[in-house]
Amino acid sequence: MNFTANDSVSDVLIVGGGPVGATLALALAQGAQGGEPLAVTVLEAQSNFSAPRDARTLALSHGSRLILERIGIWQKLAEPTPITRIHISQRGDFGRAMLSAEEAGMPALGYVINYADLQQALHEALSRAAIRYLTGATVEEVHPDASAPSVVFAHEDARQTLHGRVLALADGGRSLGGLSGVKRDSRDYGQCAVVCQVQTELPHHNLAYERFTSQGPAALLPFRDRYALVWTALPQQVEAMLGWDDATFLEQLHAHFGDRQGRFLWAGKRASFPLALKTSTPVTLPHTVLIGNAAQTLHPVAGQGFNIGLRDAWELAQGILSVPREQIGSQTMLAAYASGRRIDTGGGIFFTDLLVRGFSNDLPLLREARAAALSALDLLPPLKNFVVRRMIFGAKG
Ligand SMILES: Cc1cc2nc3c(=O)[nH]c(=O)nc-3n(C[C@H](O)[C@H](O)[C@H](O)COP(=O)(O)OP(=O)(O)OC[C@H]3O[C@@H](n4cnc5c(N)ncnc54)[C@H](O)[C@@H]3O)c2cc1C
Repeated sequence: MNFTANDSVSDVLIVGGGPVGATLALALAQGAQGGEPLAVTVLEAQSNFSAPRDARTLALSHGSRLILERIGIWQKLAEPTPITRIHISQRGDFGRAMLSAEEAGMPALGYVINYADLQQALHEALSRAAIRYLTGATVEEVHPDASAPSVVFAHEDARQTLHGRVLALADGGRSLGGLSGVKRDSRDYGQCAVVCQVQTELPHHNLAYERFTSQGPAALLPFRDRYALVWTALPQQVEAMLGWDDATFLEQLHAHFGDRQGRFLWAGKRASFPLALKTSTPVTLPHTVLIGNAAQTLHPVAGQGFNIGLRDAWELAQGILSVPREQIGSQTMLAAYASGRRIDTGGGIFFTDLLVRGFSNDLPLLREARAAALSALDLLPPLKNFVVRRMIFGAKG
């Protein structure tokens, strides 16, 4: 530990120890090794990490794997499952495309992991790292300020105030409501995702499926010896879907997906998530920066949200580590961070929004254009290469 629990000023004060905030903290702790350690504090609202509550799986890009390797987390994850091919199709049309790692000269196009496993590994690493990590600490007020930025949080029945040279808001956007100076735009897609694990008759051989339908996209991601399903539907349908018994669910899924993987034999516990695009402008305030879902919350269709959030965390850590301590959180440092992230986050938001809105309808002209686009993607190696590199490394390729 760098300082005691009574210290009230940190070099970096991180609100939210979810995947993005935790990655920032670990990258800082590791990057400072050898030099003077930074005083890093993470305030995380949750306190119980032993019972995994979040059912979602995450598709990570190869670039995200490299970041998780550098902070020592990749090695702790149980069975990340490589995706070596992705089959993209549109329900009711012939247009389809197949992306493959072999063609791209990569070991994998991405990997599938459990959100809960990731959170557990990060929690253990934070508990061991040379930082101050408070769980059960809920931030109630955030005060960006050019001279004394601070947060007020509740912890063990007491309200406390902490200051930081820079405040990094990585709380998924939950504390933004009361934050003046940030505009939070929201586009409700009118879709929810039903997620669960399913067993198919045929083994997956690391093949993922992305299927576009008028009610929204659906994905099957190879995960261990099963598939992780992300099935998008209209909110009014989701309630009924969650009430289906197993046999009905499997039958409906088969009707929705077709039988490329044979029959669906088993489905695990189902959970649902509302889907929207949320963007914060600007992502920096005096001595304060928004990262991960707090800066941009994306539809999971293209598996971009966490991958972009990880790059936010990694690049912010590099920005902090590259300046003298007294420059941490300065306007120059934060402006450089914001401009360095603009293309990547803007590209991810644009690409994801285009997929959701361009593919979630039944307009005849658009159907034909989409089928043609999928065929072109399949037949044109440069286009394929562009899409694959984007998936793996983000908009900067
Ligand atoms: C169904 C679904 C599937 C997805 N699939 C993918 C995918 O395949 N690939 C991908 O890249 N992305 C995917 N995403 C997106 C991904 O889950 C998010 O981008 C990622 O979780 C964002 O991480 P985060 O740390 O920014 O926020 P969160 O995961 O929301 O974490 C925020 C943390 O802050 C804490 N917190 C909240 N409020 C406070 C407070 N007031 N004080 C202190 N702590 C607080 C929370 O407890 C939490 O630990 C998916 C999302 C959904 C819904």
